[in-house]
Amino acid sequence: MKTVIPDRLQEFFIGFTDEFEVKVPVLTTEGERVFASPFDGPPALSGGALAAKPTAVFFPQQDGVISIGSEGLLHASSAKPLFVAGFTPRDLLCLRFIDRFFAEGYRDDIYFSRRKGALIAAVSGFSGASGGFVPLSGGACDLEFVFDGAVWIVVPYSEPGKRIAARIPDDAADDALAALLEKSGGCVDEDAAIIQAASKLLLNEMVPDRFWDSVAESCIQCTGCNLVCPTCTCFGVQDWRYPDRVERSRMWDSCQLEGFMREASGHNPLGTEGLRTRRRIHHKLAADRTKWGEISCFLCGRCDAACPTGIGIVAVSRMIVERFS
Ligand code: SF4
Ligand code: SF4
Repeated sequence: MKTVIPDRLQEFFIGFTDEFEVKVPVLTTEGERVFASPFDGPPALSGGALAAKPTAVFFPQQDGVISIGSEGLLHASSAKPLFVAGFTPRDLLCLRFIDRFFAEGYRDDIYFSRRKGALIAAVSGFSGASGGFVPLSGGACDLEFVFDGAVWIVVPYSEPGKRIAARIPDDAADDALAALLEKSGGCVDEDAAIIQAASKLLLNEMVPDRFWDSVAESCIQCTGCNLVCPTCTCFGVQDWRYPDRVERSRMWDSCQLEGFMREASGHNPLGTEGLRTRRRIHHKLAADRTKWGEISCFLCGRCDAACPTGIGIVAVSRMIVERFS
């Protein structure tokens, strides 16, 4: 097993920049952790889930679909594969979900142009907010950085992950990892029980429309919940005209906005805030469960942290369980 001390992380990640476009959490001057190049600052792997949606590295807020100049189609030069370190184990579940979403039916070439060949490193151990313990992913990534409170234990899973780990000098951290693995299984997740119970009530149609109208009264349509959610995949399309070219982009959409499903005729199947709020929660807890066999919320905690009026998915699920169980 290999280890890296925190002070050597920046040098470690910079060592892969010839081969990969490396993205790691880095502290901004405002004190926020965002994905950036390791050249931009020392990696801030500790601190728990990034506030921003981590899947945006593969599905950015605005993304080029097609670009046409006077000579015809313009082709972007192919970039290096991504090496992204900083997904929490729950973020990995979100990534797995949207991988499947974008592969289903018409495979999304734009998404997979970044996702294919990308190396993913999870972060766990005593690396949560305020040093809290984050259970290990158990292998749903190429490699994992597990913080034992002093050093990062590097656990490779895939062959590419093993090649990365092989560049770290030999060490012996097996005992420390064994102790952490023991701890990994012991976490009880109360929020998981809440959203499962809310999902069941929604699937059994136990939640009346008037409930959604009352929750929606709190929504100020800031779209924060959708913007941070790693499993939100809705987007709209926008054309941009420049002096030398025309570009078509896709841009994230939000089901909390009035125009989300409005049709050209003016008819809007989600014409009230209550219906849109129902859609946001019902889609993840019931519709996706029916379509994909699993709830598409993996409790990353972002929407509950982002919603300024306290109606993130766990908060609303709690209300559902309290009122309709
Ligand atoms: S907790 Fe909220 S932001 Fe995170 S996956 Fe669930 S719905 Fe999305
Ligand atoms: S974050 Fe809260 S207030 Fe903002 S759109 Fe979402 S539910 Fe509404």
